[in-house]
Parts: sequence; structure tokens; C-alpha cells
Amino acid sequence: MSTPFPTEIWFFIARLALLRPWTSTQFNRPPGDFDGIEGFAQTLPVFKEIVQSLKAESFSISPMELSRAQIEDSTPRRVKCLQISARNLDESSEALHHSQSFFEKLAGFSMLTSLSFSAPGPLLQTLHQLQKLPFANCLESIDIRGTCEFESGADFAFDQSQSLVVCFPNLLRLRLSKEAWIETERIPEEVVYILASFFGGCRKLELFSIHAALDDDAWLEQRSAHMRSIDHLQPSEGYLRYMGHCPLCFENYDHANVVKKENAMTRCLAEKFPKLSEVRWANLWAKFMRDECGQRSTRITREGSKVILVRADEMKE
Ligand SMILES: [Zn+2]
Repeated sequence: MSTPFPTEIWFFIARLALLRPWTSTQFNRPPGDFDGIEGFAQTLPVFKEIVQSLKAESFSISPMELSRAQIEDSTPRRVKCLQISARNLDESSEALHHSQSFFEKLAGFSMLTSLSFSAPGPLLQTLHQLQKLPFANCLESIDIRGTCEFESGADFAFDQSQSLVVCFPNLLRLRLSKEAWIETERIPEEVVYILASFFGGCRKLELFSIHAALDDDAWLEQRSAHMRSIDHLQPSEGYLRYMGHCPLCFENYDHANVVKKENAMTRCLAEKFPKLSEVRWANLWAKFMRDECGQRSTRITREGSKVILVRADEMKE
């Protein structure tokens, strides 16, 4: 049975019908609402094929499964959004996802536009290996969590030259975070300069979310003290208090200092990446840290060569 429109139009309509709201607290686009087009899929065989094709565009696998699994040849080529996530401690070997087998299998996903990668392993070394794969030119979004130590910068000098540049020419969105995030990490300003240089080949980058805070060490220690102390967490009134409402912590907090650092480092990144329109830093005082909930955003606009910053707290610089 034929339809009044070409298959491509129905494909486009079905893709639109799948979309869920995508908020600023979610880095990756939410999965498609396939329940919502179940009836459509049942109407005609061609619609069922369209829905199956759309389902095949997203794929989730663990590093160990990817290294060992027998995947049909046609599967990787249909995937546009790939999520790789270690499922248990058995996958905690750094060597696992750096094995030849792992990257050979990964190379088969030649049409990837979005990669979410959470597994132990030096974060920037992993990115360096990813850029050698066929999909590096297609990637529009990278969300990578590794064993990066922002504070020490240990992962940033792996080739001893610090002049290494990775190139993902069509990358629009980039998130860097530490695997198994427990407490907010600190990122020194000098490491931000290294990152700006390292991603120098990503000229179309629009969003850069760094899950680390520019606060001084003392405030990260204060955060730990707050979490450990019953006087901070549970005052005499008996309720559970979070740090942002804690007078013992907040009274002496130098918010202006971290604003100054965030603005300076955001401006540094804005000057490096000509399309950059938003930078997010970890907010030490955030109540929730999941996904992008704990990130503080600064928007970037440009007037000629002039960079204008608009912070989420609406202070302009
Ligand atoms: Zn406190």
C-alpha cells in the first residue's frame, strides 16, 4: 500500500514526533519517545521500518561488551548516538577501553554524531585516540567522563609537549567530567589554558561544559567540612541544610572572586573558539549535581571582535 508522501517525508515526521523537551539541565538530548509513535508504527509495514530505523540510531553498550561482542556489521553503521558506559567494577581496568580491539570495534560506528563515553581511563588520551577514528569528522557532541585529575593536571601532559591539538571539525557540544563523580573537582586556571589549546582544532564549538570549579582550594575543603559536620548539616532546628543555606559556610564566601575567575576563563575560551556561545563551570554551591544541574552558565555574545558575557545570574561584563 502506497502513502501520499515519499518515505523521506514520513521519516522526517516520525523523527519530529519522537522529540522530547530538551532542557539546559540535560547535556545529551533525551531519548526519543517511541511509545508516542507506537500506533504510527503499527499502521503500515513501511512505517514500522521507519520506526525500527530510528530506534537503530541510538545504541548503548559497555566498554567490555564492545571489546568482546560480536556485533552485526550493519548495526554500527546505522548508529548516530552511541553511549558507552562501564556497568560495574569489573570494567574498571584502564587498559580495557584502550585495547586495540576496543578501538577497532568503535571505528565501525562510522556515522556517529553524538558520543557519550563514561569509563575509567585518562580523559584526554582517550580523546586523542577518538580523533583518529572515521567518525571524528561527523561528531557534533562529545560527553566524556574519565579519570581526569583537573587539579593536578596529570592527564594534560601525557605527551610531555602540551602542544598537542585534537581536531573534531564539526564538534558543537563538549562536556568534560570526572568519572564516578563524588565531590566537586577544582580546575586551576593554567589547566583551562591547556584545555583551550588542546581543543584548538574544534573551531565550531558552541557549548563547553567543564565539570570542575574555579574556586580556591579552601572552599572545596569548606565544602567537605560542611558535608562532614553535623553542626553544618543539621543545625539545632533539626532539618537537613545544604551548603548554600549554611551561614557557617556562606558568611565568608568570596563569590566575587569566583565570578571574576569564571568571567576571565570564559573570555579566554571565547577568544579561542569563534563560535562559542556558552560555557558552564561547576557551581560549588549547587544543591544538585546530576547531569547539568550543578553547572553555572555564562552566555557569550559578540559585537564585532568584542566579547560580551552574560552570566546565568544576570551580571554582565
Ligand atoms: Zn556549612
